[in-house]
Amino acid sequence: MRYSAFQVLKEGLTGNKGWKPAWRDPEPKKQYDVIIVGGGGHGLATAHYLAKEHGITNVAVLEKGWIGSGNVGRNTTIIRSNYMLPGNEPFYELSLKLWEGLEQDFNYNAMVSQRGIVNLYHSDAQRDAFARRGNSMRLAGADSVLLDEDGIRNLCPDLDFTNARFPIKGGLWQPRGGTVRHDAVAWGYARGADSRGVDIIQNCEVTGFTMDNGRCVGVDTNRGRIGAKKVAVCVAGSSGRVMSLAGMRLPIESHVLQAFVSEGLKPTIPGVITFGAGHFYISQSDKGGLVFGGDIDGYNSYAQRGNLPVVEDVCEGGMAIMPKIGRARLLRSWGGIMDMSMDGSPFIDKTEVPGLYFNGGWCYGGFKATPASGWCYAHLIATDNHHDVATELLLNRFKTGAVVDERGAGAQPNLH
Ligand SMILES: Cc1cc2nc3c(=O)[nH]c(=O)nc-3n(C[C@H](O)[C@H](O)[C@H](O)COP(=O)(O)OP(=O)(O)OC[C@H]3O[C@@H](n4cnc5c(N)ncnc54)[C@H](O)[C@@H]3O)c2cc1C
Repeated sequence: MRYSAFQVLKEGLTGNKGWKPAWRDPEPKKQYDVIIVGGGGHGLATAHYLAKEHGITNVAVLEKGWIGSGNVGRNTTIIRSNYMLPGNEPFYELSLKLWEGLEQDFNYNAMVSQRGIVNLYHSDAQRDAFARRGNSMRLAGADSVLLDEDGIRNLCPDLDFTNARFPIKGGLWQPRGGTVRHDAVAWGYARGADSRGVDIIQNCEVTGFTMDNGRCVGVDTNRGRIGAKKVAVCVAGSSGRVMSLAGMRLPIESHVLQAFVSEGLKPTIPGVITFGAGHFYISQSDKGGLVFGGDIDGYNSYAQRGNLPVVEDVCEGGMAIMPKIGRARLLRSWGGIMDMSMDGSPFIDKTEVPGLYFNGGWCYGGFKATPASGWCYAHLIATDNHHDVATELLLNRFKTGAVVDERGAGAQPNLH
């Protein structure tokens, strides 16, 4: 069913009885061409593009919980492409371009809101680093503007410009960055994939991989064994656990990251503001809530909830840069499991097991990557070749030394 203004009017006048479920609830078949393990944003986007761009529709997405129960429905909704390294920037810029046409693509309102994102700087050295980053972005076709203090004052006068430790001197502004309603992305991709014949199977946990002569030929699940020519894993924070079922150890640690939402306020934040020095980022939702986050909890965990010391730490970061938020009441907070890679960059690759593919290591930043991740993973699964913008996101890069260390922080997940 296509959504349109006319449809809304028609249903409104006829008691809203004609709406159909956005996707079906099928029983798993015995065999598929492709099984995608994990019905998060990346898994669903992969299924959507496999069907739409490559005509591969005999596909199942197996999700152990419900669609949107993972990080895709738990993030702080920021999209941007302000990366620097050649291994990353073209990939994230492709993603931003795909966001820009996404709602038309899957006929679903995902509230893509390009209100801009600014990274604040506090010293000459940081300004120079941002100038370099901005130039790299422009070389890859992205947009960036280096703002001075007055530029930031015009953008957001409510910040604390005279903070004794981190006085604000300016920022790197990407006007095309912004926010997207996260769960609508999962629902939109689910609808897009389902309408092309993909089976989305919820409450179906993968508990093992079926091997035949060293080749992956399917999966074991709590709903029985399902065969497939290709199996593509896409389980974000559960990557280590799931890939260990195939005997693989990954250069990934799982950590908790929390998100926070305040009560609704009148408009006060123009776009997304990131305060890297204190590790705090904030935006304002359409309902007026301040949506913010900061550090990971700092210990390995598969729990989807965090602890109080980090609540305090994140709120301190907010108070340092925008003292007035101390007057706002915190309404909600939650946690998600982050798949933190050792260089802060993701993986979209084949594995050493024929027929088994892996996508993960998204750290803090996998939501913005959702469209490009699905696009490039679908390309890899369909053609067995890496997409041009994802040639460096390889599993063996810690063996070859070709790491994609955006922050230059080394193998320290808490710093990425
Ligand atoms: C608090 C928080 C804030 C964030 N903020 C941002 C942000 O502002 N911008 C940004 O770009 N990124 C952000 N991220 C990161 C981003 O959300 C993730 O990197 C991204 O969502 C991960 O990809 P996904 O959507 O596919 O993951 P998920 O939605 O977690 O999907 C993985 C799915 O796999 C399923 N699964 C696991 N094991 C199995 C199994 N054995 N069988 C079947 N299914 C299984 C899980 O149930 C889950 O639904 C944030 C994350 C968190 C937690």
